[in-house]
Amino acid sequence: MRILVTGAAGFLGSHLTDALLAEGHSVLGVDNLCTGSLANLSHLKHESRFEFAEHDICTPFDFGRVGYVFNFASPASPVDYSRLGPETLAVGSDGTKNALEVAKKYGAKFLHASTSECYGDPDVHPQTEDYWGHVNPIGPRSVYDEAKRFSEALIMAYYRYYGVDTHLVRIFNTYGPRLQKNDGRVISNFVMQALRGEDLTVYGDGGQTRSFCYVSDEVAGILGLSGTDEHLPVNVGNPHEWTILECAKAVLKVTGSASRIVYHPLPEDDPMQRQPDITKAKTLFGWEPKVDLETGLRLSLEYFRSCLTEETADLKM
Ligand code: NAD
Ligand code: UDP
Repeated sequence: MRILVTGAAGFLGSHLTDALLAEGHSVLGVDNLCTGSLANLSHLKHESRFEFAEHDICTPFDFGRVGYVFNFASPASPVDYSRLGPETLAVGSDGTKNALEVAKKYGAKFLHASTSECYGDPDVHPQTEDYWGHVNPIGPRSVYDEAKRFSEALIMAYYRYYGVDTHLVRIFNTYGPRLQKNDGRVISNFVMQALRGEDLTVYGDGGQTRSFCYVSDEVAGILGLSGTDEHLPVNVGNPHEWTILECAKAVLKVTGSASRIVYHPLPEDDPMQRQPDITKAKTLFGWEPKVDLETGLRLSLEYFRSCLTEETADLKM
């Protein structure tokens, strides 16, 4: 099958592309490179089943017939979507509509990368898919959270009104190789700080929690969902919950770094806890994660070390 992946040059989009190619499909990657990088796809330079188009999906597009659309284009880290606020709202609305139009035109299936951010700062814990969330609609994170909530509404409308075969995955914090080293997410920040011998910057008192999913587990869950008939959202994330302080200590242990932990102010509206209830994914397609945080960090170290080597080489030039 020829499959369209929007956001293919990003962290998740590039791993998803690899997995789809490994399953024997052809992939058309579309990306405007606003937060992604062609370096994430450079290993596919000689892959005849991979095509790439540099394009902003907020402008309508049609690169020919496809059988499946995976819509992964969007800035994703708080640092990126704060810098690209209007663009983030645009890709969640216009961009997602344009991707849906491609699926509608060709009768293709459609799977959208939604997020645990739809739950905001949750007052239900762990989060089940039927929880409607607790989101500040005008706060600094709203450009992302509300874009994703609007995308979900738009996608449900294309399913209900036009019969497009849509799927919604609510992804919880995912990490691994190709996570941008400078996009401010906690794993990339902590690992790069530890490798550089810098202080690890814990925001707030570090008591807030996240549940970290290794990228191969996340992609397996996404592919699992893509083969079902489920149209309502499904959580895919690792239910093991860590405080951010515990995460910092895990990074110090795995890297063997002597860096110190320092405390910085907590950003506004930073969710205090987050943990997926994955009963639905387990029941629907028998998915559960296999890689724990320390193992996933070890698997990511080579990549982050190579980022450090590049950085050092750049400084010498
Ligand atoms: P990323 O920033 O690495 O990748 C996003 C990609 O989308 C980038 O390559 C970027 O250039 C591209 N893009 C952004 N706007 C675009 C536009 N208008 N047109 C074309 N391309 C555009 O982020 P990621 O972590 O790989 O996230 C991928 C998707 O998964 C996003 O939709 C994100 O919201 C979602 N998600 C990720 C996580 C996570 O923990 N990584 C969690 C929840 C949801
Ligand atoms: N965080 C932190 N130090 C950092 C970067 C992030 O303590 O250097 C915290 C952040 O405040 C949040 C958590 O780690 O509580 C996860 O942040 P991230 O940006 O990775 O993802 P999100 O907030 O979108 O879950």
